[in-house]
Amino acid sequence: MHSGQEFGDNPEEVRETGHYASEYVPSFVEKWDSLIDWEKRTESEGNFFIDLLRKRGVKSVLDVATGTGFHSVRLAAAGFDAVSADGSADMLAKAFENGRDHGYLLRVVQADWRWLNRDVHGEYDAIVCLGNSFTHIFSERDRRKALAEFYAMLKHDGVLVLDQRNYDAILDRGYNTQHTFYYCGEDVAVEPEYIDDGLCRMRYHFPDDSVYHLNMFPLRKDYTRQLMTQVGFQRVDTYGDFQHTYRDEQPDFFIHVAEKE
Ligand code: SAM
Repeated sequence: MHSGQEFGDNPEEVRETGHYASEYVPSFVEKWDSLIDWEKRTESEGNFFIDLLRKRGVKSVLDVATGTGFHSVRLAAAGFDAVSADGSADMLAKAFENGRDHGYLLRVVQADWRWLNRDVHGEYDAIVCLGNSFTHIFSERDRRKALAEFYAMLKHDGVLVLDQRNYDAILDRGYNTQHTFYYCGEDVAVEPEYIDDGLCRMRYHFPDDSVYHLNMFPLRKDYTRQLMTQVGFQRVDTYGDFQHTYRDEQPDFFIHVAEKE
């Protein structure tokens, strides 16, 4: 079955920041959303992000990686004043639909992070970039540019919450000892199909045997932290899998909380 995704003859050579929009083809998005049951996801995340934002007195939040709207809807339901941005129009359309189904009219804006300030206006108490999204950027220049755009859109005491997969474990363990990650139970099997210092090509296998891929940049945890500090964030705390403490090898995800002051 053809996935509809276009990676060309050499998929491992596709290392381009702008490629994300054509990787999230509508059939992948639909499948993802029907299988990753929002209730299960809510259960596994708990109130980690909501508590973190409330504790800081956050009111306005810009969700820069809205995707199909999971976090934007949770933020709206928790009473935050949220704006939902994403570079993919297909994703935003799905997010708006999902929002409406849950009883919320999301305020959506199509914007690529590299030019965020051009398309989104205002200043926010917090920016969230969740669901391993920042990994889609393939050059260091673009990573710095995106983080600088996030920094500029935060109020003087604002906070950026950005998560990433634990690529250190994948890179250090090596390609041969693959670990299969299961999202919310056993619905979708995700494994790294190819890995080097500049690419992690993930394979998503669905129960109907359809297969999709995403090409991502394997961000090392300390490298992400360092970039955040370099663009001006004063303090960066890193959590593992929604826990306040972590052992390096263990978590599948890291969550960075970067404070502007
Ligand atoms: N946060 C959502 C979630 O957790 O379900 C969606 C995560 S999805 C893995 C990543 C999202 O980031 C996609 O919707 C994609 O369109 C968006 N994205 C990737 N690179 C981007 C960029 N340079 N500018 C804007 N959006 C981007």
